[in-house]
Amino acid sequence: MGPLFFFMGKKTKQHKLIIAERIDSMAQQLHRLSLDIWSRPELSAQEVSAHDTLVRFFSEQNQGWTVQSQYKLPTAFRASWGPLGVSRGAALNVAFLCEYDALPGIGHACGHNLIAEVGAAAAVGLKAAVETHAEQAVPVEITVLGTPAEEAVGGKIDLIRAGAFSDVDLVFMAHPAQQDAPFLPTVTIAEMSVKYHGKASHASAYPWEGVNALDAAVLAYSNLSALRQQLKPEWRLHGIIKHGGVKPNIIPAYSELEFYLRTPQLSDLWELKAKAEACFRAAALATGCQVEIIYPAHTYSNILPNFTLANLYESNGKALGMKFPEQPASFSGSTDFGNVSFLVPGIHPFFYIGTDALNHTEEYAKAAGAEVAQLHTLRAAKALAMTAVDVMCCPDLLQQAREDFRLAKLRAEDRHANPEQT
Ligand SMILES: [Zn+2]
Ligand SMILES: [Zn+2]
Repeated sequence: MGPLFFFMGKKTKQHKLIIAERIDSMAQQLHRLSLDIWSRPELSAQEVSAHDTLVRFFSEQNQGWTVQSQYKLPTAFRASWGPLGVSRGAALNVAFLCEYDALPGIGHACGHNLIAEVGAAAAVGLKAAVETHAEQAVPVEITVLGTPAEEAVGGKIDLIRAGAFSDVDLVFMAHPAQQDAPFLPTVTIAEMSVKYHGKASHASAYPWEGVNALDAAVLAYSNLSALRQQLKPEWRLHGIIKHGGVKPNIIPAYSELEFYLRTPQLSDLWELKAKAEACFRAAALATGCQVEIIYPAHTYSNILPNFTLANLYESNGKALGMKFPEQPASFSGSTDFGNVSFLVPGIHPFFYIGTDALNHTEEYAKAAGAEVAQLHTLRAAKALAMTAVDVMCCPDLLQQAREDFRLAKLRAEDRHANPEQT
């Protein structure tokens, strides 16, 4: 950390106090917001009630927000506030992201209801601070973006393509985890759906007339298992046979597999995709089946780190009582925030919610609705809003965050590695 991180003027301190006070004063309302979402879990792209709850929160409870429901996607929204005293283009547009989709069968087991609460709390906290002291070193406009379908498809990537991030300068969100961490590396992900088309026949009377699609699936599965030994340690491929025939006495005419591929960097993902495709095609060739290879979701990029913003978040978090482990746990998850991080400087810290349970388990779903998660959730919101204040009050820090972004992107750039071409 450079000397800039130790600079905190009087105004910065006042702003941070106001943020903490405003968020604390709205604690009940904010808890109700995330509990409403938690108690009605909705799958990706079907988050109608969560969307309505959040739109209501910004339209009714907090005066001054311009709210666009169904913003570019049926369950996305946008709430905007400010700037004061300058035209929109002249202000720094700080965006907080809300996620709110749940998982099949286990509800809010990734705690996205708390991500929505963090985004809403950070935005109202920052607004209170900016309203109290209208003159900033950098004038600020605040945007809240409701970004659906993180667990499947990748709603943020649709929003990127629709231009939702084109006027955003900084982007913040925080995700529930098992620990507080300003940054954890995430990995890319590509989803593959592979279908083999063969020919049915009586499996005993005329097997030679059939073309066995299940054999193609089994060979493909074995090819991929053999490939796994030759992959770099951080690369992952994992999958299932989703459809393997209907009856033992019918040669299966159709089979289907689903596979996920993950690598730390996009450039590696293209290489892994090519290898996996070769495995699937080889099985088709061996059995005489036709093969269809489909990528049903967007490719998620890894998150570009922004250490200026992450260090500020850590300082603010520590001041609020967060404990950051010296050795953060390794994490091989993926998020569509990765694609956003290639477009706009931002951070996606992780926060503890009072349980050691793992994301995507029933225990975690329970914890995401528990009272004890509230302290941690509101603390993450305060730390995010305070990080925005640090940047807003010190143009040098803003410059440094932008420079971090530029350099991280340059390092990641590879002739294959533009996530917007996926
Ligand atoms: Zn998840
Ligand atoms: Zn998640």
